[in-house]
Amino acid sequence: MLAVLKANAYGHGIVPAAVALAAADGFAVARLEEGIELRAAGLRHRVVLLEGVFGSDALRQAAHHGFELVVHEPGQIALLESWRGDHRFSVWLKIDSGMGRLGFRAAELPAARTRLGACAAVLQPLTLMTHLAEAEDRAGPHTPGQLQRFAALTAELPGERSIANSAGLVAWVAARADWVRPGLMLYGVSPFPELQGSELGLRPAMTLETRVIAVRNIATGDRVGYGGCWVAPRPSRIAVAAAGYGDGYPRNTASGTPVLVNERPALLAGRVSMDMVTIDVTDLPRVAVGDPVLLWGPGVPVEVVARAAGTVPYELLCGVSQRVHLDVR
Ligand SMILES: *Cc1c(COP(=O)(O)O)cnc(C)c1O
Repeated sequence: MLAVLKANAYGHGIVPAAVALAAADGFAVARLEEGIELRAAGLRHRVVLLEGVFGSDALRQAAHHGFELVVHEPGQIALLESWRGDHRFSVWLKIDSGMGRLGFRAAELPAARTRLGACAAVLQPLTLMTHLAEAEDRAGPHTPGQLQRFAALTAELPGERSIANSAGLVAWVAARADWVRPGLMLYGVSPFPELQGSELGLRPAMTLETRVIAVRNIATGDRVGYGGCWVAPRPSRIAVAAAGYGDGYPRNTASGTPVLVNERPALLAGRVSMDMVTIDVTDLPRVAVGDPVLLWGPGVPVEVVARAAGTVPYELLCGVSQRVHLDVR
């Protein structure tokens, strides 16, 4: 298993996440700098750079740290051909089986293989990889099509195979191959829009929490927040909590999205501000300044908040901003 730790481990802190996931067979990151952070923390695992490297300086650093390289475009082959050092690189050859983003397509693959096979800087055999575009669609034809194309393109080739992200790992047994590459599910979150993590036996690793900074009683018809887009339907009590889109709680999260105040359910009321959210706590007893507010985590699935904000949990997790204190437990 390659544990995917890109984007600061989906917002969880790359080093603490790597330490927690030390039993993985290797780590995958998107950027050279992310791999260097792992080495600086003393982690000696295999590290795969999912986008490879660009430029001879980056290649030198990858060699120095022993990083493995995804190779997905011809310029990266030329870079390896120009390598004059002693180090030989483990290469993950990326094949585009239908994602339409990175990787060699059928017509380009033979030339890429021939060049990499003849390249002194490259350890043989190559690991063969592809990426699934719609693995969370359990019924559609796209994943079987990708699996078929990848199998056909690699049928005669030696080397280990890697296909599955989280959704592929859970939903498509045939995609497990030699190496799986889960990301989101490692953090306890479901990659399927129709399922929450708990339904897959996962527990969320992240809790986004803040506190109440004001409580006020308002009358029927009073407006709350920017645009006045929440109007009290009855005499109400509103708690203001100190977190907003400046912290990574999306601005377009809809009124009515669940939160927990003092571990009890309440609903967002009004537009999310940069530094604050407003919450209808009319039905909760004794809410006071300083009380804890949970925006997502155990009890408020980030999957639910993401849907209420018109996005996916990936974006929420890795969008938690710098000013939020990361408290690793
Ligand atoms: C991000 C990524 C993964 C992990 O995807 P999840 O959906 O988070 O499991 C796997 N492989 C590649 C190439 C990726 O870029």
